[in-house]
Amino acid sequence: MDENEKKLKGLEERAKRMKVDYMDISEKDITDDLSGLISVAFARQFHLIPVDIPDEDSLTIAMENPTDLYVLDQLSTRTKKKIIPVLADSDDIMSAISELYSSATIEEMKVPILEDSKMRHTDSLIKLETLNWFKEVVVKAINRNASDIHIETYENEIKVRYRIDGVIAESTTIPRDMEIQINNIIKTISKMKIEKRNIPQEGIIDLKIKCRDRVLRVGSLPTFYGERFVLRVTDEKLFDLKINKLGLSRNNLKMLKTMVRRRQGLILFSGPAGSGLSTSLYSTVHYISRPQLNVFTVEDPIEAPIPNVNQMEVNPRIGMDKADCIRAIMRHDPNVLMVSTIRERQIAHLLIEAALSGQLVLAGIYARDAIDTITRIRDLGIDPYFLSTTLTGVVTQRLVRLVCPRCSIAVEIDDELSEEMVAHNLDEPYNIQKGTGCNFCLGTGYKGRIGINEVLLLSDPLKSLILRGSSRARMEEQARRDGMKTLYADGLEKVAQGLTTYDEIKRVLIE
Ligand SMILES: [Zn+2]
Repeated sequence: MDENEKKLKGLEERAKRMKVDYMDISEKDITDDLSGLISVAFARQFHLIPVDIPDEDSLTIAMENPTDLYVLDQLSTRTKKKIIPVLADSDDIMSAISELYSSATIEEMKVPILEDSKMRHTDSLIKLETLNWFKEVVVKAINRNASDIHIETYENEIKVRYRIDGVIAESTTIPRDMEIQINNIIKTISKMKIEKRNIPQEGIIDLKIKCRDRVLRVGSLPTFYGERFVLRVTDEKLFDLKINKLGLSRNNLKMLKTMVRRRQGLILFSGPAGSGLSTSLYSTVHYISRPQLNVFTVEDPIEAPIPNVNQMEVNPRIGMDKADCIRAIMRHDPNVLMVSTIRERQIAHLLIEAALSGQLVLAGIYARDAIDTITRIRDLGIDPYFLSTTLTGVVTQRLVRLVCPRCSIAVEIDDELSEEMVAHNLDEPYNIQKGTGCNFCLGTGYKGRIGINEVLLLSDPLKSLILRGSSRARMEEQARRDGMKTLYADGLEKVAQGLTTYDEIKRVLIE
């Protein structure tokens, strides 16, 4: 009797004792459709694999331990089928798992995979090969800490690009033949309508990577050559909700805290899109919130949960647009109300009303700088009297990249920068740093981002200028006299501290 025969005999005897059948699965053809029934993680954890569907209600599963009641119970709950356990050789099971779930190779490379249960119903529409390609794209984005993934179709190719620390980096190009498959995968998993190609759509992909729940917010846009997709990576842990982590200078932080402490009035957070407005709003709301306060938010969409806060998501399909949400909240006696963005007159008016009735209102608005923020809200038709009585302050911001801590070196200050420093009353010693590029920062010399800010706490003279409808120039002059530090000056200070570079400040502010 040779080794193999001995092994076989042993397995058969074990099967008999366990009162199950033994199955030799080494040569068995396990069809792809079975992979959707059980997740690869579960299969690997308990050494089992689905091998057959003898009839509609049953499922044959080859197991290393076919008498494990817990696992059998889990299997029937998960698959909603009667489980027929059979014994199989452990090594055969593991190699069959690798073959069936070809994504397993990714896992072996220590690259996490999407949670398979989310994929289950989509497997039949999708080629496994393309699915794996897509998983790799997502995994790569997350490993590199990208904020979005752009998948764009051009005349002959599809480009995948990642946005890392606010800057888009090209990643891969693939032939256009894969277009339909890729589109189908993204749309199926994100629950969009596959057949609708001429309208922009929005969707969501939930996934689990490195034991963390992530959400990809997906947007599609029809373009000349085909659809393009942007997948935004969100993760509640990416929002470090501490107000002192925003990068506000000590003085700016003090002013923001003063505004918040008044517990009423309107505080506006401004900047262009992508300047980290949500993070600042979230952190400030988080700083304010406590169980005894009624704190509400109106968001579009909710980007991360905040403890002790009632968050509402705008949903026009069920008749809850932004204005409906605000009106509904006003009936619940709020102490604090946060609205992610003001773009419309109606919303601006509702928020002023809330601030006038004694609530603390925080809102985001797209504007270039602090004074521009005042003129924008005024342009939304707000009465100068109401604006001057409610507006407490403005926090404007941009995000700049931080010098990579692993490859930074001290550099001499050049004449241009030196003059700017002196002109903005920044005294020596300076600690000018730059990144030389390493693996950690993917050769860019930058890693992570920090805010630069302009914080304006409204003085009485400035309020009376608002009341009189004064020009931008007059208000600017007053703000300077009140000691407001501009975005540029705050940026220079962060250059002097070695946090970022002068090039980066220019890139972000001079456009
Ligand atoms: Zn580096």
